[in-house]
Amino acid sequence: MTTKRSLPHCSKHAFTEFVKLAQDQGVEELPRNIMHLNMMRDDTLSDTPYGPLIVGVSLFAKPPLAPKTVVAINPLAYIYTAFKNGGGFFHFLRSKLMAVPSSPASPWRLCLYSDEVVPGNQLAVFHSRKVWCVYFSFLEFHPHLSNENAWCPLLAETTDSLKNISCGISQVFAQLIKLFFGDDFDLRAGIQLVGPDGTQCIVRLYAVLSMFLQDGAAHKMVWGCRGDAGTKLCMLCTNLVAVKSELVDEDRSKLLVCNLIHEHQLSFATDASIRAAIKRLDAFKLTETAGAFKMRQQAIGFTWQEHGLLNDPTLEDIVFPASQFLHDWMHCVFAGGVFNIVILLCFTAVKEKATNVWDIAQAFVQNWQWPKSVKFNPCNADYFSKSRVKSNEKALQFKCTASHGLSLLPVLCLFIRGLRTRVATLNTIVCDAVDALHDLVEALVAVPLGLITADDLRSRVAHFLQVVEAAGWQLRLVPKFHWLIHLAAALARWGVIPTCWVHERKHRMVKRYGEDVRNTAAYSRSLLSETISQQLVDVEAMDAFPSELGLIRPQVAPRKERSFLLGALDFEDDDVWSVHTSASVRLTSMSTVSRGDVVLFKASDHADRFQAAQVWLLACIHGEHVALASVWEFHSSTDELTVYWQSLERPYLIPMDQLMCAVMWMQSTPELARTFIPFQFRGFKPI
Ligand SMILES: [Zn+2]
Repeated sequence: MTTKRSLPHCSKHAFTEFVKLAQDQGVEELPRNIMHLNMMRDDTLSDTPYGPLIVGVSLFAKPPLAPKTVVAINPLAYIYTAFKNGGGFFHFLRSKLMAVPSSPASPWRLCLYSDEVVPGNQLAVFHSRKVWCVYFSFLEFHPHLSNENAWCPLLAETTDSLKNISCGISQVFAQLIKLFFGDDFDLRAGIQLVGPDGTQCIVRLYAVLSMFLQDGAAHKMVWGCRGDAGTKLCMLCTNLVAVKSELVDEDRSKLLVCNLIHEHQLSFATDASIRAAIKRLDAFKLTETAGAFKMRQQAIGFTWQEHGLLNDPTLEDIVFPASQFLHDWMHCVFAGGVFNIVILLCFTAVKEKATNVWDIAQAFVQNWQWPKSVKFNPCNADYFSKSRVKSNEKALQFKCTASHGLSLLPVLCLFIRGLRTRVATLNTIVCDAVDALHDLVEALVAVPLGLITADDLRSRVAHFLQVVEAAGWQLRLVPKFHWLIHLAAALARWGVIPTCWVHERKHRMVKRYGEDVRNTAAYSRSLLSETISQQLVDVEAMDAFPSELGLIRPQVAPRKERSFLLGALDFEDDDVWSVHTSASVRLTSMSTVSRGDVVLFKASDHADRFQAAQVWLLACIHGEHVALASVWEFHSSTDELTVYWQSLERPYLIPMDQLMCAVMWMQSTPELARTFIPFQFRGFKPI
């Protein structure tokens, strides 16, 4: 251990991997110093017919400063390189192009996503290094849009360094878009991609800009839409104004609420009406005094941005604000949003009748177990303690991370339902709000499965907003409630509504390299070089875009497990059989099942029936995937969301293609377990 102690700090895992690498490859093959390491990295970032992988983008600075250059990934060079490298990306893109051919008449749809990321961990957050991250993907990658590898970084620039750029991130966006649709190469005219040596595969990819996926803050900054009190807060609506609410932000400023919350009350903006508003501002800018022009911007609802995205004449036939902007529903609902506010309001109302509601909620939630892949253990997360409740009540919202919010919502919905039957005096309308919210979120989660139409979504949003209005919460309805209204139209337009869950994970890559970069002068270039190198390695892996059933990181089965599995199948334990096991498997639905999870699986003789089981071993025996599990027996079903089972010790080998998904579950009594039934399986019957 003294060897490790004498080195700069690294994790045990990293240290042992270094040692293994040195043994496997020979020390001579490894970089000698940081400069050599950077050279080796840059060698993998070679030039392409579409230019280098990392390019400089020149930006107008605020007068009187000189123009400034920031670095960005050249997206066409990335697509070219990743395709040429072969492996996962090559096979994925080629199969997608075969399934959904791209042509000048039916080009693919490019999607841009942007967010501000803070490198560092919860204990040491580096606000000074806050980074604007922009990623791109194609909507045709669905259903892999929830796969991190489907999104390529385009920009990682510190917020600080954009401070003196005219119109900030808005101008950056305008310039980034030209990397796809420039004078030299234009995705609308198609780009040619050549497969790895020997494949003779040449394809042409055509695409148009289709979607900007953003949260509220990015919406305001990129589009110049004003969010000030008394003016328009949503670029997509012409008659919506904001009024001051009862809520205060962390900086003690009042949050805004919307004056209209129903779709029929709103009048929607069009691409032409937004462009016309910008043109009107251009004209007024020439004739009005500074004071009058300020009022004018307030009234029209946009800030005049000389070098902004909407003021660039070369992008008028590429950027269509009303038909390309999509509000990210994850931010709407779970990032200090609809969920956080509704849960607090509901619990506050319930507390009047049941003063210990937070305590019993905590006990209820802690009984539940989540699938291992969710990585949520309520016993480790302090969301209901006295101090936490106090801080929530002060902030007027239930504070928790977005992914924990998504995990908690179904259980909180069950909890409130249970309470409602036990406390007769409860105000049922506030309980309905949690139910309606759960209903809506289930639908949003089920969108990628193709189970939800735009009309389904529209009616769930409308019902939810009616209930919160009936509950008398108008003064708490921040703009995030309003944004829900646009989701149904978005689903009708695109057929998919991607969310930022995937990017929250993706940001970890930027955060990881962001923490490591010591040379702040070359911060963005180092960060982008590291990130794009990693991206190219990640997408080249053969399982970068998995869609087939399989073990994740399989290992040769330990002797005991091997002989048990072969014995169970009545096979002789001779060398003919290859037996692998793993801690988790990927199903064809792309969900994950891990050892210890409770799963639902299709009964072999009834297509519409399912059973439950707890998984103990996941194995692949000579190409056959099986799960060793204790199969439970159906006991009862008291509501549509859950089923009770007798939890028995009955080991069976279940063919893995019968597994439907891992579910949330709890042990009600020593013999009785209760499982949640996910939305997509509600039509099935338990046996
Ligand atoms: Zn709107």
